[in-house]
Amino acid sequence: MHPLADAFGRRFPYLRLSIIPACNFRCTYCLPNGYKADPKAAGPLRLDEITRLLTGFQHLGMHKLRITGGEPSLRRDLTDIIATAAAVPGVERIAMTTNGVLLTRRLNEWMDAGLGAINVSMDSLDRACFARITGHDRLDSILQGIDLALARGLPSVKINAVLMRDVNDQQLPAWLDYLRDHAVGVRFIELMQTGDNLDFFRRHHVRAASVMAHLLDSGWRERPRRADAGPARELVHPDYAGHIGIIAPYAKDFCAGCNRLRVTATGDLRLCLFGDFGIPLRHLLQDDADQEALVRAIGGQIGRKEKGHFLHQGHTGITPHLASTGG
Ligand code: SF4
Repeated sequence: MHPLADAFGRRFPYLRLSIIPACNFRCTYCLPNGYKADPKAAGPLRLDEITRLLTGFQHLGMHKLRITGGEPSLRRDLTDIIATAAAVPGVERIAMTTNGVLLTRRLNEWMDAGLGAINVSMDSLDRACFARITGHDRLDSILQGIDLALARGLPSVKINAVLMRDVNDQQLPAWLDYLRDHAVGVRFIELMQTGDNLDFFRRHHVRAASVMAHLLDSGWRERPRRADAGPARELVHPDYAGHIGIIAPYAKDFCAGCNRLRVTATGDLRLCLFGDFGIPLRHLLQDDADQEALVRAIGGQIGRKEKGHFLHQGHTGITPHLASTGG
C-alpha cells in the first residue's frame, strides 16, 4: 500500500493517538473546571484494538506515534500500550505528551517498554504561576521527572508551554536561564481557540512572532525541520544546552507542512485538530481479518482533508478543548 498522501501532496508519517479523554489537571485554557466524564461515552480503545489500529496506519506510511490524552498516565495499562506499539513492525518512534506528574515514579518502566521521547506540558517555571494555571502545586516533582529523563538519556525531552498574555508571556528570561544547562527543547505554543475557551482566548491570546523576533535578534538561529517532526520552528544557540521551538498555528502557511493525523480515545479518525467531523474506525478494529477494510477506510478519507484550519475565521470545528483529541 502506498504511503498516505492528501490532495495537497502532504504525507502523514506521524499519528497522534489519544488513549484517554480524562485528565487530572484543570488547566485554565483547556479544562478550567476539570474533566467531566460522559457516562454515555464508550470506554477507551483496548490493547488489541490499538494493535490493529497501529498496524493499519503503519501500512499507510506511519512510523512515528505520539501517545496523548487527556493525560495518558491515567491509563493503568500505559506501559502495556507502549510495549504494544513498540511491537508493531515499522513503528520507529514512540513519543508521549504528559503533564509529567508520574514521571519520577513510572518513567523507567515506560522507557524499558519502548518510550523514546516525552513532551511535558508545563507552562511556567514559576511555582505559583504553574499552580494558578493547572490547579495543582506539582512543579517541583515534574522538574525532578524531567531531570530523571535527562539523566536516563531519553533521546528527546521537550516542554510544551502555552503562551498567555498577562499570565506567563513575560517569563522568557526564566526559561533562558533553565535552557543554559538543561538539554531540553522548550516549545512556546500560541494559545489556540477551541469550542469552550473563546473568552479566555480573547483575553490571553498573544502571537509568538514577537518571541521569535526577539530570539533571532539575540543570536538564536533556526535549524532545518525533519519530515516527521512536529510543527515547531526550532531555534538553537551555542551558549545554551537546550533549544527552543515556536509553534504558531496562527502564522501564515502553518498547515502547509501538516504531517499528522489523529485518532481519539474511542477510535475516531480526525483529519485535522480543528476539523468538523470524526470518522469512526472502531468497528474495523475488532478482528484481524478487517485490516484491509481498515486501511481502505483510512485511505478513502484522506481526500477530505482541508488545506488548513479556519481558526482565523474563529472556526474551531468539533474540538471543545484540546484534552478531547490530545492536542
Ligand atoms: S490545524 Fe489541522 S491542517 Fe493545520 S497543521 Fe494542525 S492538523 Fe494539520
